[in-house]
Amino acid sequence: MRLDSLYLENFRNYQSQQISFHPVCNVIWGENAQGKTNLLEAVVCLSCGRSHRTRTDRELIRFGEGGFLLEGAIRARDRDFISRIEAGAGRKKKISVNRVPAKSAAELSGVLNTVFFSPEDLQLIREGAAARRRFMDASLCQLRPRYAAALAEYQRLHEHKTRLLRDCAERPDLMATLPDFNLRMAEAGAVLIHYRSRFARLLGQYAAPAHLECSGGREALEIAYATVKTVTDPFGDHRTLVGQLLEHQRSHHSAEISSRQCLSGPHKDDLEVSLNGVSARSFASQGQTRTAALSMKLAAREIHREIIGEYPVLLLDDVLSELDPRRQEYVLNRLGSGQVFITCCEEDRLHALLKGSVYRVSGGVVLPG
Ligand code: ATP
Ligand code: MG
Repeated sequence: MRLDSLYLENFRNYQSQQISFHPVCNVIWGENAQGKTNLLEAVVCLSCGRSHRTRTDRELIRFGEGGFLLEGAIRARDRDFISRIEAGAGRKKKISVNRVPAKSAAELSGVLNTVFFSPEDLQLIREGAAARRRFMDASLCQLRPRYAAALAEYQRLHEHKTRLLRDCAERPDLMATLPDFNLRMAEAGAVLIHYRSRFARLLGQYAAPAHLECSGGREALEIAYATVKTVTDPFGDHRTLVGQLLEHQRSHHSAEISSRQCLSGPHKDDLEVSLNGVSARSFASQGQTRTAALSMKLAAREIHREIIGEYPVLLLDDVLSELDPRRQEYVLNRLGSGQVFITCCEEDRLHALLKGSVYRVSGGVVLPG
């Protein structure tokens, strides 16, 4: 799949910008704070309806303006699509595909998929579990509409239950609603576990050979999915998973009441990454951390291709120049048939390595070469 052109209006530091892209490789360069990451962010938005960098759409609106508009011409599954997002402060965002209003942002993911890789992701290994959950969520929300719906439902229930636990000392009557929350969280949670366990397994299958090759055949990478303790088999059937999640909630009931926190459920899930049998989070060197993070991102790209049948659009934000020549070459040789967008600061030697179009971004304006 590929993004053929993009129109941005009042999005971040862009006022009004139309750009046509190369089907294979697009290099976007410019000085700091000119709008390179903002441009990739716009592409992410077109693939999932929201930004990976913000919680609210308001931040995406150009300062002093009332709303933004993004429109992308996309080629996927041998068809042409126009995906469009219009958002304004205080009103519901309007999403359409081929001029037909979409019921949810999931319809955008049915057209365009992206894998975004930035220097922050190089910390995917070292950071807390939240970074790895975000990574799983970003891929699965695009690939599985049912996952996206379950995650939204789970997050809503989680917030609500947290408020309830906070307020129930003052208002004991609220306690009566807790069993209902627990059941609905277990139902949604079981869906998350179903998809995450399968994603983690595929991730390990694709990331291990990438890491092995990138480390010169020295390191075996393994990825294990860690979820709620009472879950004996995350590949088990839905009813069993729900039962085991309820069991965990029961055993943590009094701890939740006394700590006033939601302690039970897959909102604490993690991916345990190990290299040659030892925890990468605790022991990996900087180079190993980079290689493992890179392998996981490229693995996510392969999973998209396996499930969708086409490579997603790969967005490399400032990341290639952070890798040594061997890893750069590894990434560039793996691109295969997919489209890629690469940002960098200098017009450096990368340009010589890549065949495609070059754009320069300056003050929210995109110029050729
Ligand atoms: P770097 O090389 O440092 O990563 P960049 O080219 O990727 O730079 P961006 O992150 O795209 O830079 O941001 C460019 C500018 O956009 C920043 O100076 C920021 O202040 C500005 N900006 C961010 N949000 C908005 C907004 N809502 N309205 C107007 N300008 C914004
Ligand atoms: Mg940037």
